[in-house]
Amino acid sequence: MKRLDYICEVLGDGTDGTEERSVYLTFDDGPNPVWTPEILDLLAQHRVSATFFVIGANVVDQPELIRRMIGDGHEVANHTMTHPDLSRCEPREVECEIVEANRAIRMACPQATVRYFRAPYGSWTEEALTTSASAGLAALHWSVDPRDWCRPGTDSIVDAVLAGVRPGAIVLLHDGCEGTHRDPRDQTVTALSRLIPALHDLGFVVRSLPQHH
Ligand SMILES: [Zn+2]
Repeated sequence: MKRLDYICEVLGDGTDGTEERSVYLTFDDGPNPVWTPEILDLLAQHRVSATFFVIGANVVDQPELIRRMIGDGHEVANHTMTHPDLSRCEPREVECEIVEANRAIRMACPQATVRYFRAPYGSWTEEALTTSASAGLAALHWSVDPRDWCRPGTDSIVDAVLAGVRPGAIVLLHDGCEGTHRDPRDQTVTALSRLIPALHDLGFVVRSLPQHH
């Protein structure tokens, strides 16, 4: 039996040349009324799409941002209902966290198809993998983490992404503020405004996650 695992990089199927230099930007912990619109504006300005791992409780507060994400062609994905560390949750809580977040996304935007799940803090457990798989969600981690959540400086975020990126890379960024880190995301926004042109200069195509996994 194949052991369940999470995805850290998107591997091209080799039939499409563009797959070879794709990079996938992902934004966690939103939607946030201040930072998410700024990020959506930047993505629109550069005509690129991305994936948003949203928290269900924030979706309930900001449903119009989910509708905008979908309308703009982005992928909306599941990051639980309340962002707990799933390794500290009972099996029943894990299931509620995942199922309720899916429901919140679909309440906000009935056209949304949720395909991916990411565990808060990257804290994957057997339970989280099994439950997300049975909800039809692929478990998605990341391959490049510039630690933007701790505000290391815009240069540091840009440099870490450009140093770590390679074809198929999944980049972890944050449009929301969770837990004890309720810091502004201005560095992430400024870094993004430099990163997209820099990635294009390196020949990368910035995409949302594949619709089939
Ligand atoms: Zn998170």
